[in-house]
Amino acid sequence: MTSVIREVSVFGDAIAYFNEAASLLALEPGMSRLLTVPSRQIIFSIPFQRDSGELEVYTGYRVQYNFARGPAKGGIRFHPGVTLDEVTALAFWMTWKCAVVDLPFGGGKGGVTCDPEKLSMGELERITRRYAAELVEVTGPDKDVPAPDVGTTPQIMAWFMDTYSMHTRQHTPGVVTGKPVSLGGSRGRVEATGRGVELIAHAQMEKMGLRPQGCRVIVQGFGNVGSIAASMFAQRGCTIVGISDVTGGYYNERGIDVASAIAYAQEHHSLEGYRGGERITNDALLTSPCDVIVPAALEKQFTLENAHRVQAKLVVEGANGPTTPDADRVFRERGIVVIPDILANAGGVTVSYFEWCQDRAGYFWKESEVNERLRDQLLTNFETISLMAATRRTSLRTAAYMVAIDRVAQATRARGMYA
Ligand code: NAD
Repeated sequence: MTSVIREVSVFGDAIAYFNEAASLLALEPGMSRLLTVPSRQIIFSIPFQRDSGELEVYTGYRVQYNFARGPAKGGIRFHPGVTLDEVTALAFWMTWKCAVVDLPFGGGKGGVTCDPEKLSMGELERITRRYAAELVEVTGPDKDVPAPDVGTTPQIMAWFMDTYSMHTRQHTPGVVTGKPVSLGGSRGRVEATGRGVELIAHAQMEKMGLRPQGCRVIVQGFGNVGSIAASMFAQRGCTIVGISDVTGGYYNERGIDVASAIAYAQEHHSLEGYRGGERITNDALLTSPCDVIVPAALEKQFTLENAHRVQAKLVVEGANGPTTPDADRVFRERGIVVIPDILANAGGVTVSYFEWCQDRAGYFWKESEVNERLRDQLLTNFETISLMAATRRTSLRTAAYMVAIDRVAQATRARGMYA
């Protein structure tokens, strides 16, 4: 249950950031209220049969937070800690993440309270199909487009898509994203979040006069986001001085060979025993010497306890919610620039949007085209946010929320009130 408490408290952080930005935008009070309540919350039972023949009933959720700019968009989480509160918080967050990079989507999130590690493939398939069947009327390419999240995979998205298509009697790949490429998934999706982290970091580094050559980078977390981001920084010419995973941190001021670290982690299923750097604790890694630090593991990593000791000039939030509002304030006071999560890690949802576009057109792009469009979408919006931060003299985080909230509020006003 710890994850629930954490996610919900991260939601408190998101509300705090929302309120700060909303007050700077001088949003009308009714609009603030409208944007901070979910449009629709759905709870349902998922009865299914275990392989043993036993009957079980799980609980499924889908929250469609906001539709002002388009269909709801957000992942499906299979985890024992899933609750309505958690899913609602994450759907709120998705609303701003989609708007900040100007995708024609609202925000959504869903989940099933279950432990996928204790389920067989057959059991997972039955749960997924029942979950999808319960949502046939309210999901669809023009209604709500789920995607993978914690505990769900491209295979689960394939079962969702198949179930939906069987019910509606038409092939509908655009109902979910994050599918296998063989079923209408997008090339480049797997790397998109890490790639986006580095693209935006590089754009900010240029503004700060930080050249890649000689720039020391630490990446916390060596999973999908962290390992890809680390290789992109290395390809750009930066020196990766620190990496870490759940087993600990590894620091080498002369530089870590990222390709060999990835190969090691793949072979050993973690970095445990990796010898390419001095072994240090995860806490020590966060305050080790570097120019850029990329938290890409967990929420609430930078707190009042360590923010004063962080040595980086630039923090790039690959993970969701890695900086508490208190730590954020310390960073501001110390002149440490933070690229906020809703912008820094939006590469994944951006390529999900490209997947939806490709599915609807029935025309699939080369990986180079996906990457080029990703670059354009992220950098264009980064410049908009950067300009907002400069003109309003705010942090990039506040500016990102301001841009996102303003876009959703404008769409809401233009639609008018149907009452
Ligand atoms: P992942 O499970 O692939 O990797 C997580 C990594 O963090 C693993 O290497 C794990 O060992 C490490 N880790 C766990 N606890 C740690 C600790 N205490 N110290 C250091 N490392 C630790 O997950 P991911 O997909 O890379 O996601 C990472 C973060 O990025 C999460 O916050 C996720 O919500 C966010 N995110 C991911 C995506 C995506 O497309 N994958 C998109 C947006 C945001």
